[in-house]
Amino acid sequence: MTEMLFKAMRSPQERAQLYSLFQDAVLHCERCGLCRTRKNVVVGEGSLTNRIMFVGEGPGEVEDDTGRPFVGPAGQLLTRILEAAGFKREEVYITNIVKCRPPGNRVPEIEEVLRCQGWLEAQIALLRPQIIVALGNTPLKWFLHSTGGITKMRGRWFTWRGISLMPMFHPSYLLRNESREKGGPKDLTWRDIQEIRARYMSLQGKNDGTTV
Ligand code: SF4
Repeated sequence: MTEMLFKAMRSPQERAQLYSLFQDAVLHCERCGLCRTRKNVVVGEGSLTNRIMFVGEGPGEVEDDTGRPFVGPAGQLLTRILEAAGFKREEVYITNIVKCRPPGNRVPEIEEVLRCQGWLEAQIALLRPQIIVALGNTPLKWFLHSTGGITKMRGRWFTWRGISLMPMFHPSYLLRNESREKGGPKDLTWRDIQEIRARYMSLQGKNDGTTV
């Protein structure tokens, strides 16, 4: 029903209005216990129209402080990776599986993910991404129910509900693995983001190097 409603909202103005309502609802959410320890709800940010979405695990400390996704050290690295591939950060939409920080940056519990997933479902219905990038194991498990692990699954295209989906290393993993050797995590991520960029440009019907 929610998805049908979102699809009926065709103009950018209607979509922006609906997004604003959605954002307000998430900002007041108390569906799980993380609402008791968060400072800010981190809903997500970026383009509502470019139809490419990056999904991480959950907000960290800096994100909790600011209410913005991926702005701490890992987020800054993600921004650099995006820009190196030709994206401006504001051209993509960035969010997380859970919208409130798990204390101590622990992995979100299943109960928390289940209670929060309706928000992500609504975000996807609203933004109608053509490409989703799953950053790390938590979104990989949520989208693909995969226990294969990000190292095995990254760099391959999957189809999730008709949407092209690629798992990629979470930037926090790259911060812990500094190696730049060929075949290392950074090298593989560079290949993955270029593949994502190529798919994005092909879906846009434009050649790389043009304004998106
Ligand atoms: S993590 Fe999700 S479900 Fe839990 S309080 Fe925050 S927005 Fe609500």
